[in-house]
Amino acid sequence: MSATTLFTAIFVVLFIISVALQLWLAYRQVRFVRTHRQAVPAHFAARITPDAHRKAADYTIARTRLSTVDTLLDAALLFVLTLGGGVAWIAAWLGTVSLAPLWRDVALVVGVAVVCAAATLPLSWYRTFVVEQRFGFNRMTFGLWLADIAKGALVGAVLGIPLLTLVLWLMARAGTLWWLYAWIAWVAFQVLVLALYPTLIAPLFNKFEPLADAAVKERIERLLARCGYAAKGLFVMDGSKRSAHGNAYFTGFGAARRIVLFDTLIGRLAPEEIEAVLAHELGHFKLRHVIKRAIWLALGSLAVLAVLGWLVGEPWFYAGLGGAGPVPRYAVALVLFMLALPVFTFLATPIAAIYSRQHEFEADAYAVRHASGQALVAALVKLYEDNASTLTPDPIYSAFYDSHPPAAARIARLEAAPA
Ligand SMILES: [Zn+2]
Repeated sequence: MSATTLFTAIFVVLFIISVALQLWLAYRQVRFVRTHRQAVPAHFAARITPDAHRKAADYTIARTRLSTVDTLLDAALLFVLTLGGGVAWIAAWLGTVSLAPLWRDVALVVGVAVVCAAATLPLSWYRTFVVEQRFGFNRMTFGLWLADIAKGALVGAVLGIPLLTLVLWLMARAGTLWWLYAWIAWVAFQVLVLALYPTLIAPLFNKFEPLADAAVKERIERLLARCGYAAKGLFVMDGSKRSAHGNAYFTGFGAARRIVLFDTLIGRLAPEEIEAVLAHELGHFKLRHVIKRAIWLALGSLAVLAVLGWLVGEPWFYAGLGGAGPVPRYAVALVLFMLALPVFTFLATPIAAIYSRQHEFEADAYAVRHASGQALVAALVKLYEDNASTLTPDPIYSAFYDSHPPAAARIARLEAAPA
């Protein structure tokens, strides 16, 4: 068997395994949630109404079914672009256009990215205007949806095309260690985006206003002082412009760091509960989860780029994923690699999920030490109810994907913690 055939065979086997596994997990999730649709789990019976529980079940089932369609569309698109010869076809067509090699490379990557993004639009529309709408979560108009897509594409182009051009130039000109220089550029780019995000990018999509509620503000400032965290600002974001889902996050770093609360969260939680939610988020910072995650991502991208550095020189890599002419070689390598990568990393999903759930438990424990555990439980119950998150996920589905522990496990630990 040639190296090309062997590589194609490995790719196809992993591709089938990942699609089959995604479908099987979704099937399990739908079946488990439906089986537990009628009865609120005993532990929550006093806090969640049967109606809210059924709504969460129906919402979870609708979203999981939609994710199945997403899986199948993604799989079809991946197949068409790789083994189906889609990338090779676009590359061959670009070969006939008179452009400098670097710009031909850039055009290929941008072209494939546009095709992939366009393919997700119908489902994104359906998710927002049919599923979210039916469950009363959607607040977006069609005009806002279109404006978001246009702005997102513009920000992506302004930030992404210079980086892409640099990486393709390095691939062609920087010798065998190009991947190391590309990695340095990538890390610098991440830092730049993080620095620009709170003050330049996020305001393109939402309005941010200083937190006006004096009682909440005073509580949060006391919490921050207690935990030794200096934030440069407390802001309220008009999340209600798009969705009824509530959230809070910490963003930026250094002088640009700020705390953002969704207006939907302020409207729903008592001051003590907001404090507990923020204490949890603060725990992620103080326990160095954020920096650990950033280091893992940086190391992961270094490993990924080193592998690409090796594959660029291997003819079986191109031929094994649908083949393509020698021009534009670097862009073809980059595109085929980015398309195929998830197939090779999918089976590692649970490792990242376990790591993330461990951090969630640690942040909860931190919140109990610096704020009220009872208030955090009350806030979580409200958030589960408002977001129609299921309290009864399939154990295997949840263990495989979920970044947060199941509601019952989280609340049981919070309640067992010494007050
Ligand atoms: Zn968390």
